[in-house]
Formats: sequence, structure tokens, C-alpha cells
Amino acid sequence: NCEWKDKLLSALPSQSVFIDERSLEKYSKDYYYFSPVLLRELEACLAECIVRPQTEAELDTVLSICAAYAVPITVRGSGTGNYGQAIPLSGGVVLDMSAMNQVLRLEGDLITVQSGIRMGKMEQFSRQHGFELRVYPSTFQKATIGGFISGGSGGIGSITWGTIWDGLVHSIKVKTVEKVPRTLTIQGEALLPYIHNYGTAGIITELSIFLSPKNEWEQWAITFDEFSKALCFGMTLAEIPAITKRLLSIHEWPLPASFTPLHLPKDKAVCLLEIASSDSALIYELAEQWGGEIALQTPAEQYHRGVGVSDFTWNHTTLWAMKENPAVTYLQTRFSTDDCLTQIEKLQADFPELTMHIELMRNHGQLTVSGLPVFVFSTDEHLRRLIEACEAIGVSVASPHTWRLEFGGRSPELRKLIKLKQENDPQGLLNPHKLVYETRDAERVV
Ligand code: FAD
Repeated sequence: NCEWKDKLLSALPSQSVFIDERSLEKYSKDYYYFSPVLLRELEACLAECIVRPQTEAELDTVLSICAAYAVPITVRGSGTGNYGQAIPLSGGVVLDMSAMNQVLRLEGDLITVQSGIRMGKMEQFSRQHGFELRVYPSTFQKATIGGFISGGSGGIGSITWGTIWDGLVHSIKVKTVEKVPRTLTIQGEALLPYIHNYGTAGIITELSIFLSPKNEWEQWAITFDEFSKALCFGMTLAEIPAITKRLLSIHEWPLPASFTPLHLPKDKAVCLLEIASSDSALIYELAEQWGGEIALQTPAEQYHRGVGVSDFTWNHTTLWAMKENPAVTYLQTRFSTDDCLTQIEKLQADFPELTMHIELMRNHGQLTVSGLPVFVFSTDEHLRRLIEACEAIGVSVASPHTWRLEFGGRSPELRKLIKLKQENDPQGLLNPHKLVYETRDAERVV
């Protein structure tokens, strides 16, 4: 029965609805192929209709029709998520928010935008007005703010400002999925279950996000003979408040070999940095202290012009490694801040196939050693053993090899989210099967 599709096609202008095969295929996929497990399990998932509302009135029409016919809805920003968050597991509509992409206002350090705006555009706009984003993902040129808050975690800026849970969002507007959709304004504590919930409890249409004053950023690559020296340098730097930082990313050799545009020296670990140009003198001193050599120092005028060091950090690191060897995948881990070197040594003694990639960041103000080690995928069993080995030595894992919100790591408090979902999405139409409590087939999850 395709009555609902006919309704959408007749109610919306032609530039807002797509049912051709190419669009269905394209907008049913995100970067899920970062995980061989997700690639295998989700490859066949396909939407039945793509809707890209241009206005709030069009969005209301879509939601109303979907609610009337009980059609599943999977919200999409730019589809750069890599846990299959934006993949429709039950067909239905993929709701592409990318046309609702305007800056609405800037008041002091608070920017209010529509959720489909790309974060690259937000950063550019903010910098033109003396501000900058506090935190953004390495995919910022493409990723939307709605997708980042609903499916991301942290990124460039996290070394100072923490994650999306650390007071980045002031307030949001959310649409419910009902025959007559409601618009809710959410702020304060009530925001928490909306953060990183994979769009399971409402459609975010607007966000007010805190900015920080603009800095002039120099980009650096500093190399070290040993990974441990690079890590110690990074952790020392992280704890010097007098140095203003936006990025502190550490890579074991041979990962830097795949960062071809940076032309880094062979057999060296590298620390990639974004540092306020006013503080750069202090970096020479500290690098010398830890035996680091400056391989690259890019002046602030070059910032966000062409390739930058952030293009090799966060999950972009994995992307470059995958370019060298498509069988490469990764894990998301959190090491103990006090004991990370010992934990890393222990892990690599049992799994020498791991190449270490560390992002230093803050969580609720505390320095956190976030590890995204890469390795060549072999079997599910190997992956399971690796995860168990991490957990056995106190390294927590947020698996990027599951589409289930509860197993991917930092999910919102489940009881609150379920209650919210029942209120905002009473028929359970939003992003079905991303919450385990709906399906109860958790045993299939790696
Ligand atoms: P999508 O992938 O389209 O959606 C993400 C989730 O949010 C989905 O569940 C979707 O249903 C939901 N959603 C989207 N819009 C809305 C809305 N308006 N209302 C409700 N729900 C919505 N992530 C990081 O956190 N930090 C990084 O540094 C980072 N680096 C990456 C590097 C690479 C190479 C890749 C492939 C991924 C990386 N990611 C990173 C993951 C991803 O790029 C980011 O989280 C990004 O912000 C997602 O934005 P998006 O617009 O593409 O969201």
C-alpha cells in the first residue's frame, strides 16, 4: 500500500520528495562502512521515499502524513555518521534536513540556527562576527549541527571545551511525530536525553549553541622517535592552561605514513596541534624538552584554507588508514588518564596489530585520553576478544561496530529517553530498531 507515498508526492513540491532508485540508495547510507560488521549487516537497508522539507510547514505536513499512516522516519543531516545512525532499518521515509539550513540570529555568544546547517558554514559565519565554534567534528565542512548533537560526541575544540554533553547547547526546538505535530522548546537538564539519541525522540529543527571568542590558530606537526614521548608531550601540553589549544591529536607510526599530503618523516610518531598563535613560542620549548622535532608549522592566515591538520584527526585518521588498506577498521576506547601508557603497552603486547591513535580531550573538565586505535579487521571473534581485553584492564570501549544506541557507548539515560520517546513519538516511528528495548534482540550485537 503506497497511499502514504502518493499523499507525500501530492502534498509537497517536487524538489522536496524523491523516490527514484539513485536517491533512495544514496540517502539510505551513511559512513557505516567504517565497520565491516555494519557493512555486512546494514548493506541491504533502503528507504522507500526521501523527503527534504524546505520549510517548517512542509516538515509539519510530512510528519502529519507519516503519523497518519504509521510510516517509519529516519532523520538525516549529512549522513556522515559512521555507526549506521542515519540508515533506515525499516524502510519508510528518510527525512533529510539539509534544506533547513539558515543562521537565524547571533545574540552575544549564542548562535541560533536551523538544524540542517553545515557546521563549516556556522564556523565561517561565527568567525566573520568575532566568534568561533567551541567544538566541531573533523567532518565539519559537511556535517550538520543537528546530526552532530544527535549522533556525534566531540572533536576539534574538545581539548578545551569538552564534548556535546558539556554545556555546548543552550536550547533546541523539537517537533513531535503526531497527526498534529507539536513544537517543543527544550533547555537546561531536559536537553540531556536529546543529546546523542540518534533522532529517536523528535526532530530537532532549531538549536541555540554557545560560541567562544575567535582565536588565530597555528597548525603544527611535531614528530617524536617514540610514541610514548609524543603522548607524554601531549599530556604535558594538555595540562598547561596558559597555552590556548583547539586540537591535540597523537599518532603512532605507521599511521602518519598514510597522511600523504603532510609529508611526515618516516618511522616517527606525530602530534598534530592547533595552538593560538600568541602561544606558539611556548611550544618550541616544550617540544625540545620531550625530544620533538617540528615537521610543520602553518601560520594562522592559512587556517581553514585547503588541507589542515584536523583533516588527519578524529575519525579522519581512520579514513586515511583505510585509503591505504580498505580492510582497516578501528575501536573507540577511553584509557585511564593516570595510567594510559601502561594500559597501551599491555594491550599492544597481546594485540600487536593495534596502531595507536589518541585524541586528548576534556570530559566535564577532566583531561581524558580517548583512543581510536586502528587495525586490520579479521573476524567478529577477534573483535570480541579485543573488546574484552580492553575491558579486562580497565579501558572502556564505545563500540563503533553496532547501530544500537545503548551499546555504542555514551547513550542518554535510557529510562528518560524511553519516556520521552513515548511522549513525542507515541507510535515508535522514529529511527526504529536503534533502541534495543524496542527489539529485544541484543544477542546479535558485537
Ligand atoms: P547524520 O549522520 O546525518 O546523522 C547522525 C544522527 O543524528 C542520525 O541518527 C540522525 O538520525 C540524527 N539526526 C540528524 N539530524 C537530526 C535532527 N535534525 N533531529 C534529530 N536527529 C537528527 N563525530 C564526532 O563526534 N567527532 C568527529 O570528529 C568525527 N569525525 C568523523 C570523521 C569521519 C571521516 C567520519 C566518517 C565521521 C566522523 N564523525 C565524527 C561522525 C559524524 O561525522 C559526526 O558525528 C557528524 O556531526 C554527524 O553529522 P551529520 O549531519 O552527518 O549527521
